[in-house]
Amino acid sequence: MTAFLALHNTLTRQTEPFAPIDPACIKMYVCGPTVYDFAHIGNARPVVVFDVLARLLRRLYPRLVYVRNITDIDDKIIHAAAQGGESIESITTRTTKQFHDDMAALGALPPDIEPRATDHVSEMIELIVKLIDRGHAYIGEDHVLFNVPSMPNYGRLSGRNRDEQIAGARVDVAPYKKDPADFVLWKPSTDDQPGWDSPWGRGRPGWHIECSAMAETHLGLPFDLHGGGLDLVFPHHENEIAQSCGASDCGDSHAMARYWLHNGFLMVEGQKMSKSLGNFLTVRELLNDFQGEVIRLTLLATHYRQPIDFTRDGLKQSKQTLDRLYGVLRAAADLPINMVEPPTSIMAALCDDLNTPQAIVILHELVTATTTAKDSTKRAEARDQLLAAGLALGLLQQEPESWLHWQPTGAGLEAAAIEAKILARQQARKDKNFLESDRIRDELLAAGIMLEDGPKGTIWRRA
Ligand code: AMP
Ligand code: ZN
Repeated sequence: MTAFLALHNTLTRQTEPFAPIDPACIKMYVCGPTVYDFAHIGNARPVVVFDVLARLLRRLYPRLVYVRNITDIDDKIIHAAAQGGESIESITTRTTKQFHDDMAALGALPPDIEPRATDHVSEMIELIVKLIDRGHAYIGEDHVLFNVPSMPNYGRLSGRNRDEQIAGARVDVAPYKKDPADFVLWKPSTDDQPGWDSPWGRGRPGWHIECSAMAETHLGLPFDLHGGGLDLVFPHHENEIAQSCGASDCGDSHAMARYWLHNGFLMVEGQKMSKSLGNFLTVRELLNDFQGEVIRLTLLATHYRQPIDFTRDGLKQSKQTLDRLYGVLRAAADLPINMVEPPTSIMAALCDDLNTPQAIVILHELVTATTTAKDSTKRAEARDQLLAAGLALGLLQQEPESWLHWQPTGAGLEAAAIEAKILARQQARKDKNFLESDRIRDELLAAGIMLEDGPKGTIWRRA
């Protein structure tokens, strides 16, 4: 192992050395999307953050099992399907594909296992049966509810006292609840709603039990790491712990998973980006104007626990940064590439509770080392380290040429047209018609295309 990994644990509110349950195989669960619409860039933040952590864990340990679920049963999905006149199956299949495509565009590698809630309903029912048997759940008017006062440690993750739990749960006052903080494990479905047969009649699971069942099925209990956005600490993760520990002997001290990690919010003008506030930008629409890696760098430029104040100017800055980095890579493209380990400085930054802003500072230092290297051997070495450091962050792995030629959807000259003009300019120069060659150069510049004449001919980039 090259560095000592420390992570901030929401459960203890401390940054702790990471001590795996089994160092031969690390197990991580991250709450995935509810699939009914395009993901917004706030939704993309946990995906990118936990992708960097997954890349790091794979480097530090022989094996990682990374599970990220798909929530494909939820009242928001039922509502969206009814509104759009689309079947639930069609909406969840379509939006899952969109999610996969968008996250791939952000350079996020797929998780090892991506369970769907609808494939795990029998495991959810089994868990609920255990909770009833153990006195942690009860039936009321065709619902099954988790009885919060039955778990003495409830509130430990979120640090909420009882009044805050009741207020924060924003629960409807329902006559079948024994306690206002109790939450739904199972609810009845009408004929036009999706439903599964259960000991309590035809119905569907609550959201929290889905993750408890999928995490235990694929990782067993307890496992190493559980992640998600800050809004999931309460009630979702608090309830997952109550369910999983209530139904098993995972031991309350382990709290289902040993390390609980939460990313901060992506904010717009002081407010959390969310569907309900309507202040969201989807990844898909931003991909028309920016490469996915620009969005990724913007997300990683802030430490994952801090809020990000999202602006288009921030994206433009990331674009400029990446153009510069890819420009340096293109200038060194004639030097053969050797795959090397990432520099220890990058590993140290990432092992320090995923300090990605510091890792990005190191990328810039490696760029300087590449551009100021005394000879081509040193230049190639520095460039190889830059590429390895980029890989640890999921950055800089594209062909520099195609990066620098990219343009927003529907904007500017096509590459073929630019190449044709460059050829015409070369011909004009051969013919010593410098008036014409300068005219073509200026015409391209006005269209945002910059030419660089070098020993191997003319290369270009978009400004
Ligand atoms: P959802 O599909 O709403 O359950 O959200 C999927 C993931 O995105 C969860 O981990 C949320 O915590 C996270 N998330 C949602 N909105 C934001 C935001 N504005 N900033 C950061 N993370 C968010
Ligand atoms: Zn979850």
